[in-house]
Amino acid sequence: MSESFTTRFAPSPTGRLHLGHAYSALMAFDAAQAASGAFLLRFEDIDTGRVRAEYYDAIEADLGWLGIAWDEAPMRQSDRFEVYRDALDELRSRDLVYPCFCTRKEIAVEIAASASAPHGPDGPLYPGTCRRLDEAARERRLADEPHAWRIDMTRAAALAGPLSWTDAEAGEVEAQPGIHGDVVLARKDVPTSYHLAVTVDDAAQGITDIVRGSDLFPATHIHRLLQHLLDLPVPRYRHHGLIADESGKRLAKRDDARSLAALREAGVTAEEICAALRADPPDIARLEPAG
Ligand code: GLU
Repeated sequence: MSESFTTRFAPSPTGRLHLGHAYSALMAFDAAQAASGAFLLRFEDIDTGRVRAEYYDAIEADLGWLGIAWDEAPMRQSDRFEVYRDALDELRSRDLVYPCFCTRKEIAVEIAASASAPHGPDGPLYPGTCRRLDEAARERRLADEPHAWRIDMTRAAALAGPLSWTDAEAGEVEAQPGIHGDVVLARKDVPTSYHLAVTVDDAAQGITDIVRGSDLFPATHIHRLLQHLLDLPVPRYRHHGLIADESGKRLAKRDDARSLAALREAGVTAEEICAALRADPPDIARLEPAG
């Protein structure tokens, strides 16, 4: 096995895999095979309220059915909260994060009241309310109020200076983490967020090549900044197109009819699914069960 190519598939065990997941997993698996590299599995299960125990096995079974095998025992993010806490502490010690006590509602009210709320890829940016708290108020509230931790984006981006990453489709991309504003790095309910956990874990698993959907392209601006701040290696990226249904709408977990389980039930074979997804462009219309 080559040590120069390691990729991964990182599903959340909050539902069954659908064709969109299968496409992403296959793209990563095929890339690893082609490079004689490693393909790893990681369960992104920090969202403890939405995770269901049965989905871990179901996801492994669906991948196995497709003929996708992984090297090493799968990583579970829910086992790694201490590691994320350490990463957050590192950022705290350098004053790059601050506690945020706002509720969703308070944030929405503040945004509605402002004349020109700046927007990022995921909607309006956090207005920075808790960044402006004075030290005394912050200390007092930290003692007894639930809080998330947000990155002080302006400060962190200025400290980092210009950063870029290499993307198989987009080429050399200049990181613009500032478009996201002060994103959450640790939620109120769990001591991390997707952005912090994925960045730390890609490094921990030695991932050299990240193959994932283009819906996550904007998030890479944040991940690139975090890699720099935490002194982690920078993987290569490939953000692939998304699988859409006939009307051009991308598939989502709620599209149960497109789950691998439902297709299998309807008599579609794993070979048919892999062939449809490996077609260029992918051709899922041919997978419609007859009738
Ligand atoms: N857990 C994410 C998802 O299911 C994937 C994250 C990633 O590949 O970086 O969409």
